[in-house]
Amino acid sequence: MSAQHALWHPFADMGAVDGDRMVITRGEGSYVWDDAGRRYFDATASLWYANFGHGRPEITEAVTKQLQKLDSYNLFGYNANEPAIELADRVAALAPTPGSKVFFGSGGGDVIDTAVKLARAYFAQTGRPEKTHVIGRTQGYHGTHGFGTAVGGIPANAAGVGPQPPEFSHVPFDSAPALEAEIARVGASRVAAFFCEPVIGAGGVLLPPDGYLEEVAAICRRHDVLFVADCVIAAWGRLGTWFGIDRWAVEPDMITTAKGITGGTIPLGALVVAPRVAEPFFTGAPGAPIFRHGATYAGHPVACAAGLATLDIYERDGLIPRGRELEKPLADAVSAAAGHELVAEVRAGLGFVAAVELTAEVMDADPGAPVKLQRACRDEGVIVRNLGRGVAVSPPLIAGEPELDLLASALPKALDRLAAQA
Ligand code: PMP
Repeated sequence: MSAQHALWHPFADMGAVDGDRMVITRGEGSYVWDDAGRRYFDATASLWYANFGHGRPEITEAVTKQLQKLDSYNLFGYNANEPAIELADRVAALAPTPGSKVFFGSGGGDVIDTAVKLARAYFAQTGRPEKTHVIGRTQGYHGTHGFGTAVGGIPANAAGVGPQPPEFSHVPFDSAPALEAEIARVGASRVAAFFCEPVIGAGGVLLPPDGYLEEVAAICRRHDVLFVADCVIAAWGRLGTWFGIDRWAVEPDMITTAKGITGGTIPLGALVVAPRVAEPFFTGAPGAPIFRHGATYAGHPVACAAGLATLDIYERDGLIPRGRELEKPLADAVSAAAGHELVAEVRAGLGFVAAVELTAEVMDADPGAPVKLQRACRDEGVIVRNLGRGVAVSPPLIAGEPELDLLASALPKALDRLAAQA
């Protein structure tokens, strides 16, 4: 085993990475620079989160001020800090269901696992402790914590790490009737929650069929199954609205968010809980239930100060609706890849997110082709993300015509490079 450095990268073939790292040293707006001084269009907004781009002085200022005033304080029991209180109130005021409560975590995976436990705790506290089963979707991605791995529907992510927890199952991501059938199979009296990304992100940028989200929300309501909208990617403008799921006329019981809540500058997750689910824990009655759950850094004042400054940026710069305004220009840009001999499909047109999927022949011949395509795009000065069968982009909401032009010219050139390697 030879390695240049001790750093172990997530989701990486470390043998291949070593010696070919892209070490990013600086960021400004929609661009980042590596340690060799090369500039890239950050077409993935890092990991789907740099929604207002990089290097905003408002964040530096807010974080610095907070560190000077109070560098840390937790939220356990009676404890609180001002930025956490203020941010929770602001997030709740934006939520689709009035009166929502906000439970913080350190990131997306934290709030996913919180949502699984809270769904079960809610039913336990309302006289239905047998409602514990959780349903996810094929290709769903809900982080890599324990329950998030189980509710996710990408088999490779749950393979080789021992048995998964019981009482999780999956339904085809594009079929609402399949959800109703699965609830019937398990028994509605046993099902606690259904987890659903409005647009599946890491699982391949898979758009919901027309009417799908309304239908699954109604099915959940009909069977008293909590509808958990995982908006870790979809929120904060990615789909052109505050939470992503609020593009549709549905009222989720819980919304998970992270990433763009601070533009990724400081780790933070937030679980938005509709009042009916929170209510048993807020009665104030003697012996009322306590949700025995929480992470040390959840609601960290520095992270919440970054969150407050982030909401200010989104509001002041009018960035949230751009996720919808830019969906057509992005779809036009990535359509430059459509028709290429290596490309099976281009998916775009719902929010500021898109994917290019390689053909079955390419994937069969070389399962590593998406990584190679990502590398080829990097050589063209554009950072894209490799997914199972292709690459995805989710640029900062501040990106404009020059950046989308760059993407449109880079994709076909990178595909040509990949074709030349085959
Ligand atoms: N849910 C979704 C939809 C995500 O995309 C992610 C992260 N990409 C997560 C959950 C997990 O978030 P984190 O990586 O912050 O734990």
